[in-house]
Amino acid sequence: MTDRLHDEIAAWLEFYRDLGIEEFYRREPEAKLETGNSKIESRNLKLETRKPSEPSIVAATSPATPDSRFSTPQSQISGPEPRVSRAQSLSLFEAPPPPRRERETLEEIRQDLGDCQRCRLAQGRKTIVFGQGNSKAELVFVGEGPGADEDEQGLPFVGRAGQLLNRMIQFVGMKREEVYICNIVKCRPPGNRTPEKDEVDACSPFLFRQIETIRPRVVCCLGAPAMKTLLGIKEGITRVRGQFFDYAGAKAFVAYHPAYILRNPREEKILREDFEKIRDFLKAAR
Ligand code: URA
Repeated sequence: MTDRLHDEIAAWLEFYRDLGIEEFYRREPEAKLETGNSKIESRNLKLETRKPSEPSIVAATSPATPDSRFSTPQSQISGPEPRVSRAQSLSLFEAPPPPRRERETLEEIRQDLGDCQRCRLAQGRKTIVFGQGNSKAELVFVGEGPGADEDEQGLPFVGRAGQLLNRMIQFVGMKREEVYICNIVKCRPPGNRTPEKDEVDACSPFLFRQIETIRPRVVCCLGAPAMKTLLGIKEGITRVRGQFFDYAGAKAFVAYHPAYILRNPREEKILREDFEKIRDFLKAAR
């Protein structure tokens, strides 16, 4: 397969993955009747040949060159079974390939955020808390917004709630460095209040881009604001926590915010159970 063809197929697969389509199969072709001379033209049809440079998967499967690794053996081209050309059965791929979209990096997203002044939270912050962790994490945690400690250090979940989150991550056999941690807003809301809608609207596109770049298997919403931002769920978190939802070709999971558990320590058991569900899901997915 040529490099160009490889890139084009990769672009198609990425395009369909973005649409949530991950599995492909090849439909068996139906016999085509040629009514003009009432001959069944489907027998012994020649495979269409294309130059290897032409933008189509067919090029890879056609006997473009005698030693092509992807050429179809002659025995499969003709025979008793009615056949049509592979070009017809792969028509989905015949259109020009979608423009190749390079996946942006977290650094590029951070640069784009710059010295953000997109909402009023900029005025009270010390530091933008962009996010921290593995850029290829299977598991992303999304909290609400930086608190005083996070604002001071520029890192998410480093205060008391962060220490509990670290314990939970360890409890399910993972390390903090393995996951990625961020928030729905990147600047500390005054007095740690819940971020307001316009603040979330201004900031969340950067969060969505971070998630799209990381492509985790699971995005864990910590608390109701994260659940609402990512999943649009307005129900009480008590009824929704512990469940997985489809989210952008991955899964979103809803858990209590660690700060809530610090205020209600008897609920820690539930948080542990929920983290075990995430662990089991990731184990099964590997
Ligand atoms: N609470 C959050 O929601 N996020 C943090 O980063 C810290 C505390």
